[in-house]
Amino acid sequence: MDDADRADAEVERLTQQALANRKRSSMPICGRCYGCGEPIAGRLFHDADCRDEYQRRQDSRARNGR
Ligand SMILES: [Zn+2]
Repeated sequence: MDDADRADAEVERLTQQALANRKRSSMPICGRCYGCGEPIAGRLFHDADCRDEYQRRQDSRARNGR
């Protein structure tokens, strides 16, 4: 298993985790990364950084009462 494979597995795990944490908003795979907004195929985030970015936005939105 090389680094790319490991990264893929990690993203897959994080995606499942994010989905589990965010049941109320089911996140369809929309063709764009939820973190950075860049086009992406077949998944929600490019990597853990994009996942964190998305999580941060969700958290600040929650703090603002939305
Ligand atoms: Zn991204």
